Amino acid sequence: MAKGGSRRILGAALLVAALTSTAACGASSDGAGRAVEGAPGPAAGQQAPAKTAAQLRAEQRAAVEKQRAVRAAAARKWGLKRVPLEAPAPPRTKPVITTRKGFETAGTGLPPVFTTVPTKEKVVFLTIDDGSDKDPELIRMMAELKIPYSAFLSDYVVSDDYGYFEKMRKSQPAGVTLNNHTLNHKYLPGLSYAQQEREICGMQKIIEKRYGKRPELFRPPYGNYNEDTLRVAKSCGVKAVPLWAAEAFPDHMEWREWDQDLHPGDIVLTHFRGKEEWKGTMPDMIRRVMDVITSKGYAVGRLEDYV
Ligand SMILES: [Zn+2]
Repeated sequence: MAKGGSRRILGAALLVAALTSTAACGASSDGAGRAVEGAPGPAAGQQAPAKTAAQLRAEQRAAVEKQRAVRAAAARKWGLKRVPLEAPAPPRTKPVITTRKGFETAGTGLPPVFTTVPTKEKVVFLTIDDGSDKDPELIRMMAELKIPYSAFLSDYVVSDDYGYFEKMRKSQPAGVTLNNHTLNHKYLPGLSYAQQEREICGMQKIIEKRYGKRPELFRPPYGNYNEDTLRVAKSCGVKAVPLWAAEAFPDHMEWREWDQDLHPGDIVLTHFRGKEEWKGTMPDMIRRVMDVITSKGYAVGRLEDYV
């Protein structure tokens, strides 16, 4: 009750703030704070003269240019062949996501299992699994390039350094999310309902306790699941089960689709791995996958803006 009450009070405060700011902007703005061209300015002596529409446009242009320059400098610093493209504005309403054909279970009303998000935008999503390699360079690189990503964590490789993923979360508070990839990375269809519950809901609790938020996204190890998996996941707060359409390595890509290509809304999988496990470092892998994504004309978006 207390929670709902405080939310209502916050809502009312926001409404008052919105009304006040609309009133203060008066005739020279469209209510969203933007200046309207040709609208009459305030009468002399009433308030300081507002910036003209042309001035505001010039300031906006300068801010965008500055952002681009920062992005280009970061791309040079980290050795990217191309400057990553800017993601399109997130959709105003999230698309309806359904389970991919051939990926259904007998159950109904369960979280959707999908490999691509329905969108026409040239945007793809980067997801990084497991958590064994904990390269501080990766966190720095992604934060400086401002590339969003969703991590899917498995406790057996994360628990030796929860702090690494806390730094990751804080490095891009709006751009990084920490999600569920089970406690011990087992083949879930081989487990009973109760065992799956421990694996999935146990990890929900750990992520909530360590990082303050119960994940809404869950990815089963190896992409293997059954109806129990989805029932269990739903029972402890999972809303969606994103799999992947492509997988990135430091030296190559692997594709799910016959055309061996990216498509709007594709989810790209990769892993937290080091030089001992594959042919390069995490920054090497990011350089490679970003080159593929950018050269095909795609930007990296934030999965949670669409799901
Ligand atoms: Zn995994």
